[in-house]
Amino acid sequence: MGKDRMLRFVDVARDMPAKRPPELRARDFGEIYGEYADEKAAEQAGRCSQCGVPYCQSHCPLHNNIPDWLRLTAEGRLREAYEISQATNTFPEICGRICPQDRLCEGNCVIEQSGHGTVTIGSVEKYITDSAWENGWVQPIVNAGERPESVGIIGSGPGGLACADMLRREGVQVTVYERSDRAGGLMTYGIPGFKLEKDVVMRRIRQLEEGGVEFRLNCDVGGDVSFAAIQGRHDAVLIATGVYQARALPEPEDGSQAIVPALDFLTASNRQCFGDEVPEFESGELNAHGKRVVVIGGGDTAMDCVRTAVRQGAVSVKCLYRRDRANMPGSQREVANAEEEGVEFVWLSAPGRVGAGGAKGVSVQRMRLGQPDATGRQVPELIEDSEYLEEADLVIAALGFEPEPLPKLWGVDGLEVTRWGTVLADFQTHETSLPGVYACGDIQRGASLVVWAIRDGREAAQAIMAQFGAATAIAAE
Ligand code: FAD
Ligand code: SF4
Ligand code: SF4
Repeated sequence: MGKDRMLRFVDVARDMPAKRPPELRARDFGEIYGEYADEKAAEQAGRCSQCGVPYCQSHCPLHNNIPDWLRLTAEGRLREAYEISQATNTFPEICGRICPQDRLCEGNCVIEQSGHGTVTIGSVEKYITDSAWENGWVQPIVNAGERPESVGIIGSGPGGLACADMLRREGVQVTVYERSDRAGGLMTYGIPGFKLEKDVVMRRIRQLEEGGVEFRLNCDVGGDVSFAAIQGRHDAVLIATGVYQARALPEPEDGSQAIVPALDFLTASNRQCFGDEVPEFESGELNAHGKRVVVIGGGDTAMDCVRTAVRQGAVSVKCLYRRDRANMPGSQREVANAEEEGVEFVWLSAPGRVGAGGAKGVSVQRMRLGQPDATGRQVPELIEDSEYLEEADLVIAALGFEPEPLPKLWGVDGLEVTRWGTVLADFQTHETSLPGVYACGDIQRGASLVVWAIRDGREAAQAIMAQFGAATAIAAE
C-alpha cells in the first residue's frame, strides 16, 4: 500500500465537490454538486485509514469494497478502482449521487466517529464511475453464451434493472414490462434532476438495451397484459413494481382548491425537463410558477417538492411538518440545501383542512412535543386554540406511499402479501408464495432506497439462476 498516500485525515480536511451557489442552482434542474478534479479525488480518497474492520462497508447495503477502491483512487489507479466498484454495484454513479450516505457508509466511517469528518465515500464513488464512462471503460454487457431460459421483469426501477443486468450477463433472455413511457422507475420520474441528472439514468438504460434486454414500455401488467400471460411466457417472473399509492391526503373542503399529490407534481416537472408536452404543467395545475406553495410532509419526497417549486419560480415555498427539525425523517443534508435555496420550514405544525370557508390555503394547528412513546420518539400534541390559516395557491401533499393491492388488481389469489400490503417474499432469495415468482425493491420492503432495490435485484438474479440450475458469476454483494 502507498502508505504515504493514505491515512491523511489528520492533515487533509474533508472537502465535498464544489456546490453551486443557491442563487444559480435554484434557476435550473442541473445537479448542485460538481465533480472532483483528479487530484482532489485522490487527496480525499487518501483520507481513509484503511480500517481492518471497515464499518463503512458493513453499513453499505451492497457491502461495497470501499477501502480498496479508495486506496486505488488515492494511488491514481482509477481503472482498477472502477473494476472493483462495479463488481458489487450495478449503478455506482447513481448511488454515489443519491444514497443518504450520512445514514449508511459515511455515517459509520471511523474517521467521522473520531471527529475528523467522514471520508467522502459517495462523491469518490460517483467520480470513479463518471470517469469510467468518460474514458470508455464501461463495457457493453456481454455473456459467455445465450441461454434458453427467459425471465419477465415487471417494473423498470433500480430493482428490476439490477436483476435484468445480472441475468443478461448470464445469457438469460430478459423482457422488462414497464407501464410508463420511459424506463427507470422513480430514478426517471420521481427523483428530480438536481439530485440525479436524467442522462445518467438514460445511458444505463441504453447500455441494458444494447446488451439485449428487451423493454416493453407503455405495458401495464394487469391492464394491457395479464399477470397470468406473463407467467405463461417466461420461466421465472420478478415483481419489481415499487409502491405508488399516495397515503391519505387531508380532506379538501367542498368545492375548494385541490391538493396535489407529490408524485404527480414531481413527474410533471421531470417530464417537462425531458422536453415532453405536459398539459397539466402548461395549464398551471402542476406548476408552482408565481404561486405561494405549501408542501405537507417532512420526508425526502417533501424536500424534492419544495426544491422543485423553488426552481419553477414560486413566490414563496413553505414546508409544514408536525414534529421538529431533529425528529424529521428527511435527510438533514437535503433540509440544509432547501433552506439555502429559500425554503421556509414551519416546524410543529399540523395541517388541517384545505380551502376552509373558501379561503386559499391550509388551516394549521400548532403542536408541541410531548412524552416519548414506546419507540422513544416524542409524541406531537395539539396546542389548543392555536389554529391559523397558512395562505397558499398550491398545496402539495407528500405523506408517503403504500403498495397497490396487487393480488386484487392482477386477479392472483395465490400471491401472498404482508399486513402492510407489500408482497411477501424471502429476504434472501426473494421467492414469493408462487413458484418461479420473485419480488424485490419497494414492493417487497415498502418505500425504501435505490441502493436496497439494487441489492434485492442482484440477489433475486442469483436465486433465479439457482432455479435454472446455474450459479451467477457475479456475487450479489
Ligand atoms: P420503482 O423505482 O418505483 O420502479 C417501479 C417501476 O415499476 C416503475 O417504473 C413503475 O412504473 C413500474 N410499474 C408499477 N406497476 C406496474 C405494472 N402493473 N406494470 C408495469 N410496470 C409497473 N432513494 C434513494 O436512495 N435516494 C433518494 O434520493 C431518493 N429520493 C426519492 C425521491 C422521491 C420523490 C421518491 C418517491 C423516492 C425516492 N427514493 C430515493 C426512493 C427510491 O426511488 C425507491 O426506493 C426506488 O426507486 C425503488 O426501486 P424499485 O425498483 O423497487 O421501484
Ligand atoms: Fe455508500 Fe451507497 Fe455507495 Fe454503499 S452504495 S458505498 S451506501 S454511497
Ligand atoms: Fe476508510 Fe472510513 Fe471505511 Fe475506515 S470506515 S475504511 S476510514 S472509509
